[in-house]
Amino acid sequence: MKLKQLPREYQKAIPVLNKLEQAGFEAYFVGGSVRDILLDQPIHDVDIATSAFPEEIKQLFPKTIDIGIEHGTVLVLAEEEQYEITTFRTESTYQDYRRPDHVEFVRSLEEDLKRRDFTINAFALKEDGQIIDLFDGLADLENQILRAVGDPQERFHEDALRMMRGIRFVSQIGFTLEQETAAAIQANHSLLGKISVERINVEFIKMLLGKERSTGLRTFVETQCYIYCPGLRDYGEALLRFADLPDEPLQTESQAWALLIDQLGLQESEIRPFLKEWKCSNQMIREVQMIVHGLIQRKRQMLEPMVLYCLGKENALKTEELMIYFGETPQLEQVAKCYDQLPITSMRELAIDGKKLLSVSDKKPGKWVSDALQAAERAVVEGNLANEASALVDYLQQNNHL
Ligand code: ATP
Ligand code: MG
Repeated sequence: MKLKQLPREYQKAIPVLNKLEQAGFEAYFVGGSVRDILLDQPIHDVDIATSAFPEEIKQLFPKTIDIGIEHGTVLVLAEEEQYEITTFRTESTYQDYRRPDHVEFVRSLEEDLKRRDFTINAFALKEDGQIIDLFDGLADLENQILRAVGDPQERFHEDALRMMRGIRFVSQIGFTLEQETAAAIQANHSLLGKISVERINVEFIKMLLGKERSTGLRTFVETQCYIYCPGLRDYGEALLRFADLPDEPLQTESQAWALLIDQLGLQESEIRPFLKEWKCSNQMIREVQMIVHGLIQRKRQMLEPMVLYCLGKENALKTEELMIYFGETPQLEQVAKCYDQLPITSMRELAIDGKKLLSVSDKKPGKWVSDALQAAERAVVEGNLANEASALVDYLQQNNHL
């Protein structure tokens, strides 16, 4: 098959391919973006594969960055863009069901395409639009089937993460797992226990953010892969209930975690240990904690000023957006309006500070200062008190804070 026209991002990269070819090497567009073009999806990265070895790539292009030279990847800065150029390689020595840390560079495109995970990810594209399809990926694309390249058992033994990748593609592009591929995932699900949590995390989140999340989640449970994911072993039923929620796509990672945690029925105190197991960043954990906290209140009533204030506008809107999964239309405008009407949006806007309190009190500095500021903050946010220094001092005096 030959594409009539290449997307703009690819056209722009043609001089890069030409340069490699003029030096006597082969070069192709490869990977997920070729799949995405064929699916009419927007593409996010232009990956190039070549028979040139990393040193040879670096000699051809004046501006390069070694981003993964041991895996054969060089970042080339050309045509005002950045391109990941990777030498054709095989991954012959697999140990322990994990991606090898050692790869072998080869000069053959076929060898390179053979090591790829699914037939629809194993296309190569020439600059004239010609698609190289060694594993009948075009037929699978047509039939919306996700099929491992070669023997699925072998492929999942080589790198067990491919099973999670398979499940996330089910969710992202809505394809059905080919029967043998699905059976091999089910049979080998326990190998996921060998894979680093960081790599599983990336695929799991992409799965939750996919447009066919329900099917992805059901496949995740049916193949039993969930058992070898952090903290999910006892939650098969809950995950299936999650799969019954409307297929409205989730927008952000923090919302995905928050909805998952809600569906698992975790306590607020369990959020941190759960997300730590998943190796989430502290920043992500804090954001998820806030959204879950907001959601607990929002399921009962609209968010109160103090909760809005603590969440911040962005997280308040993220919380509100989740109401679609609980049979309510998100009232985004109303939430934004309520937030904008808050008398203050941070402690910095309070008309008094610690210094002021120390100047009007005989007490020595101590914890009482922050307690007093928080009491004033709450009274202002809840609309019980004007944000004026004298009113705040009076209020704190009356309440024995000073
Ligand atoms: P995305 O659109 O999310 O980037 P992708 O398929 O491009 O999806 P990448 O991780 O960017 O995923 O990988 C680029 C290509 O490298 C894949 O399309 C596939 O051909 C190959 N690949 C990536 N991970 C693996 C793996 N674990 N096993 C085999 N091939 C892989
Ligand atoms: Mg990619």
